[in-house]
Amino acid sequence: MKTLITTLNAKYIHTALAIRLLYVASYPKHDVALKEYTIKQKIEDIVQDILSQQVDAVAFSTYIWNVEPIKDICQQLKQAKPEIIIMLGGPEVSYEPEHFLTHFDIDYVLSGEGEITFEMLLEALEKKEAIAIPGVSYQGHIATEIPQTPLSYIETLPSPYILKQDEDKLAHRILYFETSRGCPFLCQYCLSSLEKGMRFYSHDYLASQLDLIFASPARIIKVLDRSFNAKMDHALFVLDYIFKHHGPHQQFQFEINADVFPQKIIDFINEKAPKGLLRFEIGIQSTYEPTNRAVKRIQNFERLSEVIKALSEGGKCDLHLDLIAGLPYETYDRFAQSFDDVFAFRAKELQLGFLKMLRGTGLRNQADDYGYTYQFEAPYEMQQNDWISEAEIQEVHLAEEMLEKYWNSGRFKDSMSAIMDEVPSAFAFFHDLGTYYKTHHYPFHGYQPELLYQILDDYTNRRYHDLLIIDYLASCKTRMKRWYEPTLSHDERHAVIEALGEAYQLNRDELYRYARIEKLSDRYVIAIYKNYQCTLTSYPLNLKTTA
Ligand code: SF4
Repeated sequence: MKTLITTLNAKYIHTALAIRLLYVASYPKHDVALKEYTIKQKIEDIVQDILSQQVDAVAFSTYIWNVEPIKDICQQLKQAKPEIIIMLGGPEVSYEPEHFLTHFDIDYVLSGEGEITFEMLLEALEKKEAIAIPGVSYQGHIATEIPQTPLSYIETLPSPYILKQDEDKLAHRILYFETSRGCPFLCQYCLSSLEKGMRFYSHDYLASQLDLIFASPARIIKVLDRSFNAKMDHALFVLDYIFKHHGPHQQFQFEINADVFPQKIIDFINEKAPKGLLRFEIGIQSTYEPTNRAVKRIQNFERLSEVIKALSEGGKCDLHLDLIAGLPYETYDRFAQSFDDVFAFRAKELQLGFLKMLRGTGLRNQADDYGYTYQFEAPYEMQQNDWISEAEIQEVHLAEEMLEKYWNSGRFKDSMSAIMDEVPSAFAFFHDLGTYYKTHHYPFHGYQPELLYQILDDYTNRRYHDLLIIDYLASCKTRMKRWYEPTLSHDERHAVIEALGEAYQLNRDELYRYARIEKLSDRYVIAIYKNYQCTLTSYPLNLKTTA
C-alpha cells in the first residue's frame, strides 16, 4: 500500500518534525513517501500533486493553521479517487476525533503521538485486519486513548533530523528538534496542558542527534520542548553540548519558563554562551494575577522580571516575549497595562497573540462561563468575552499591527528606542499610531518600506527625523531612494567626500561609488553599501570643506 505522509506548513521555511518521525518509524517496512506543502499553495494544485503520485493512502499532520485547507483537500481527493484511504493525526484532531470523522471526508483519526500507532495502522490495513489500535478512531469506533510513544523507542529509529530528502534544503529552512516531550504546567488555553507527564530523551541519543545537526548546513534550529528548563540537569547538559560543539552560524531557539529559570543556568549562559547562539522565547501572556489564576498559569512576575533582566544584561541571547490578548478578567485597560509591563523589558521582539480557543482545551470547554464568542472555524480566535468587547479587540489589533511594523521588524532601532524613552505608555503609542494610519488611510500591507519612515516622521512632527534617517540608512542593503529631502547638494557632497578623505584617510573612490552621505544636525552619517551590506559611520560636522 503506497502511502504519502504529508502536511501543509504555514511557510516554506518551516519543516514538520512530526511527519519525519512517522516516516522513519514506518520506512522501509512500508511503502511510504514524505512530502510537505504550504498553506499558500492552491488546493487544486496540492490535490493534483497528490493524485499524480498514485498513492493508495494519505496521512495528514493537522494543526490549526492547516486544518481548513486539509478539509477541502480531503473532499477533493475523495471525489477524484473514492477508494483512497485518508488518515488525520496531529494536535488539532487528537481530542475530538468524532468531530472530524463526522465533518471531514476521511477514514481514520490518530490521536496522540503516532510513531507506533501509525505503523500499526499501516500494518493492519495492508493485512486487511480488523483495526483495534489504541488512539485510532474510525466510523463506528471512537478511541478514547491519547497514546504516548516511549522516547526510548524513538531512540531506536533512524534520525528524523537529517533525512536524505532534506539534504539540499537544510540551509534555508528551520530545523525542528526535541529534547523532551510534555509540559509540567496546566495553562488552560494550551493543548500541552493535556499531556500527561514529562519525558526526556537520553543524553547519549541527544548527543548523537546534535552531532548530526552540528555537521549539517542547518542554521536555525528550533527546539520544540514546551518548557526547556523543566529539569535543570537536562537543560544544562543540552546547553553545554551545544556551546562546545555547535556549527558555524547556527542559532538554537528555545521556549523557557522564565520565573522558574534557575540562577545556575543564567550564570552558565552569561559566562559560557557564544553571543548570538541562543534565542529564548518567554511566554508571559498577562501580568494580571486574576487572569493568570483563571487560566491556571501560576507565575511569579517579580522573579520573571529578574530573570529577563539578568539574561538581557548578560547580552548573550536574543529574547522574544509573548503576550496574549483576550484572556479572562483582562479588560482593555488592564491588557494595556500588561502590554506596558512586558514592553518595559525592551526585548528584541514582543509577540502579541490573540487567544485561540483550541479544541480540547479547558478554556474552550469553559467558554460559556466567561462569555466567549470565537471563530467557528480554525484558528478559533476569540472575538469577545465578558471583559473585552469585539470593538476593543479590534483596537488591540491596531496596536499589534504597529508593534510588528515598528518594533519587531527591527528596522527602527534608534528612533523607536528614543520614542519609547519619552512616551508614557508603549501600548498607547502603538495604538495611537495605528489610529493615525487608519484616519489617513495609509496601507497596512503592500507598501514600499520607505513609506513606514515617512509616516512615522510625519506622525512625530519630525522630532526624530535624524534618527529615522539613520535607521533607514542602516536597514537598507543597497542605496535606496530617499524618503526625505537630500541633506547635501551635489557640490556639498563632493566637498564632504574630499574633506573626509583628507581628514580620515577614507577611500574617496569608494565614497563616490558606494556611499550615501547625509548631514544631520550634529554629525555627518556615511552609509557604504557593498556586497548587500551597509556599513554606517559618523563624523563630526567641523570638517574643513571648501564647498
Ligand atoms: S502555555 Fe507553555 S507552559 Fe503553559 S501548558 Fe502550554 S506549553 Fe506548558
